[in-house]
Amino acid sequence: MSEEKILEILSQIQDPFLKNDLVSLGFVKSFSLNGNKLSLELGSASENNEKTDSDIRNAFKIKFPETEISTITFTRGISTHINPKKTEIFPEVKNTIAISSGKGGVGKSTIAANLAASFAKKGFKTGLIDADIYGPSIPLMFGINEKPKVREVNGKSKLLPIEKYGVKIMSIGFLVDVNSAVVWRGPMASSALRQFISDVIWGELDVLFFDMPPGTGDIQLTLSQTLPLTGAVIVTTPQEISLADARKGYYMFEKVNVPTLGIIENMSYYQLPGGDREYIFGKEGGRLMASEFKTKLLGEIPINTRIRTGGDEGKPVVINNPGLMESEILSKISDELINEINIVNANRKENSDLVIEI
Ligand code: ADP
Repeated sequence: MSEEKILEILSQIQDPFLKNDLVSLGFVKSFSLNGNKLSLELGSASENNEKTDSDIRNAFKIKFPETEISTITFTRGISTHINPKKTEIFPEVKNTIAISSGKGGVGKSTIAANLAASFAKKGFKTGLIDADIYGPSIPLMFGINEKPKVREVNGKSKLLPIEKYGVKIMSIGFLVDVNSAVVWRGPMASSALRQFISDVIWGELDVLFFDMPPGTGDIQLTLSQTLPLTGAVIVTTPQEISLADARKGYYMFEKVNVPTLGIIENMSYYQLPGGDREYIFGKEGGRLMASEFKTKLLGEIPINTRIRTGGDEGKPVVINNPGLMESEILSKISDELINEINIVNANRKENSDLVIEI
């Protein structure tokens, strides 16, 4: 069987998420034919490749029944959000994701910290901007006590983000005294943020997360409008009071044409030692909201003391207790989010030439 024939078959296999064929997507990394045994190394947009795997095996079985497929391996990549504003502000950043919540105290920063740490652990180049001007908590959650260093680049002073657990971090908390009451007004907040966004040496990043200020007021609206966002993730607890604000968050992003990548329900339940669950803040609110807006429920995270202590001790739970059920849920949420980023980029008008580098 010739190389041409192999590529011809692979060009008829569609990636189920990106709705394009494997050859056009540049997903055929390599293949080797040993006698009648074929091994394939492919790229993928997703963690779950069962469908593609079986489609390939079936296609070969029909067209070349004598060929035995010995292995198919998949390596996941992340696509680039093509957007002129993003290119101008963050030329080397592939995607920017807002982690938002309608109200404070629902675990937005905890989740932003854990998602960033989880992405870095999976090998993605990751940054995190703590844009929560009301209570910048990322330095505490990552155990950072120092201030960023300054470097001169072409006669301009630039800040170097602080790297911890593989995540490049910049926080408004590095620049202002967190204990002094700073009253931020919309334009002031967004210009301060914009400055430390553009005056930072980020280098190449697959994903830059923004831990947004909670709520849907002027400041949040200005930020969602000025930041070139790939998409937003909304964090909520299952209770109605939090959901009502989360819905406002969804509408705010819709208004400024930022797609919501999904909803994360936090503090979903408390796992009792006997195996029963205590639904402290109600049940399934996140799931209902996701179906109401036809968006994805990225995951449900229980209440667990180790999530809280991880934050307080400066070591996100996915780093501190990777084997914990909650850490596994957070890791799974990261996988879902990678899928959603790839899907949203594939559906963007600007991305007619979707490139996924592996
Ligand atoms: P927000 O950023 O929404 O204001 P935080 O991330 O600061 O919220 O979380 C508020 C508090 O709740 C913190 O003390 C945090 O450690 C704790 N917390 C968040 N999520 C959980 C959880 N799933 N289980 C236990 N504690 C949590």
